[in-house]
Amino acid sequence: MAALNALARPKAEKLSAEWKGTSATGGNTKNFIGGEFVESQTSEWFDVVDPSTQTLLSRVPQTTDSEFEQAVKAASEAFKTWSRTSVIRRQRFVIELQQLIRENSDALAASIVLEQGKTFADAQGDVLRGLQVVESAIAIPSNLMGDKLEVAKDMDTETRKVPLGVCASIAPFNFPAMIPLWTIPMAAVTGNTLILKPSERDPGAAMIIAELCQRAGLPPGVVNVIHGGVPTVNAICDHPAIKAISFVGGDRAGKHIYERGTSHGKRVQANMGAKNHAVVMPDANKNLALNSIIGAAFGAAGQRCMAISVALLVGEAQAFLPDLIERAKKLNVNGGFEKGADFGPVISPKAKERIEGLIASVQEEGGEIVLDGRGYTVEGYPEGNFVGPTIVKVTTEMKAYKEEIFGPVLVVLTADTLDDALDIINANKYGNGTAIFTQSGPTARKFEHEVEVGQIGINVPIPVPLPMFSWSGNKASFLGDIGFYGKGGINFYTQNKTITSLWKAEDAAGQRASVNMPTHN
Ligand code: NAD
Repeated sequence: MAALNALARPKAEKLSAEWKGTSATGGNTKNFIGGEFVESQTSEWFDVVDPSTQTLLSRVPQTTDSEFEQAVKAASEAFKTWSRTSVIRRQRFVIELQQLIRENSDALAASIVLEQGKTFADAQGDVLRGLQVVESAIAIPSNLMGDKLEVAKDMDTETRKVPLGVCASIAPFNFPAMIPLWTIPMAAVTGNTLILKPSERDPGAAMIIAELCQRAGLPPGVVNVIHGGVPTVNAICDHPAIKAISFVGGDRAGKHIYERGTSHGKRVQANMGAKNHAVVMPDANKNLALNSIIGAAFGAAGQRCMAISVALLVGEAQAFLPDLIERAKKLNVNGGFEKGADFGPVISPKAKERIEGLIASVQEEGGEIVLDGRGYTVEGYPEGNFVGPTIVKVTTEMKAYKEEIFGPVLVVLTADTLDDALDIINANKYGNGTAIFTQSGPTARKFEHEVEVGQIGINVPIPVPLPMFSWSGNKASFLGDIGFYGKGGINFYTQNKTITSLWKAEDAAGQRASVNMPTHN
């Protein structure tokens, strides 16, 4: 097995020495149950390997049934007191957590680079986008306020947002810090307790976050982290004590979890796959459009659910293609710690094989590979799962258009008019994100009204809403009714109670008891 190079090794050693739950030097990843980092007794382990060298970093347990049960028990016990803890105390937790995440963002980013493969700068972005959710959760005392009205003389009705109980969060590999941070702060400030199951491919950041939660004063059992694959996911879906599941990941798992979880009466929100189109109009600012598309298509090696995976060139904008290819060629594909790296390897040899197969299918189906990243080699990383920047010209019937590729592959389609472009996007099953590049307000306005996609960028390539808003992917990119974070996050993790009370002012008056028969007049 290959070893980490001189850039990565000291970071791996530091992570292993400084954090209780994770290892980057071949040790075991721990579960975090009831405030303790505990070694699993399982006999089944998943290897976590560095995607740029295949070095074994850690082993992740397939948590046993009894360990899972302990985690649910710890979360159920903690709920009894945490749900009754004052909102100010819960707010203090997120205030502390945001400071600790800032102070430890290098450790989080280093863990992400090692396990996931993205560049250090991009890993910092992964942490920052999660941190923003923590920061927005600080407004919880105001955001949790209910309504109150005197509905009759001396009679009030009020609504109160109360927590659900034990909730669960199941995360994907591509944002190891951001996705756990979409759910931990929102579940905790609303008074719930949480069982987090990170991706078994890169659990390190979640373990660092768990330790930071502890340092931020979170009582034992409020956040628990358990690891595993499908059996753990199924146990989450089936356990009667778990009231809600937040899922982010691929279509197959998302549909399964939504169906299995809701069949047990749980509330489920499931963010899934995507195919995001960027429309380039002939009047677009060419430089902005091309740079935006290159960044959004190839950043994180295309492994973002909001990556632009389709460029839809309208009319004369089709002439931009040679420049798009030239700019893509200049990208620096390298190990994530290397200076100047634009993107790193994809997550696994299997993912690389699948991506290269989809690129090959373009030729087989009569499309054109105009920039071919297959067989890409990077000096110093002979074992890395690298795929170079790839651009293919296809039609909407081809596999490379129909499937989510989740790699550094930009699919190019052409359209004569904006209406044709809208028809293409609206016929696609996904509805996560889309963007238009134009200098025309009316064109942008028409696009924004007619496109059936939940997150729309006007001259903005990755229109992920900041967490004072809520995630709003739609169509096949989402199952459920309430989006992640923002107001949606608060609504997802709470249910309303209405209380109607009567305190008659006149009852305070009069010194003598009446002995007459009560008539309620
Ligand atoms: P994945 O579905 O393979 O894994 C996600 C989680 O589900 C993991 O924790 C995994 O252990 C579990 N899982 C995997 N297969 C399962 C199965 N058959 N049954 C039950 N559980 C299962 O996803 P991934 O490859 O880690 O992540 C990439 C996918 O996530 C892409 O499709 C991407 O678009 C999507 N994603 C979506 C968003 C969004 O907000 N819409 C954000 C990030 C990633």
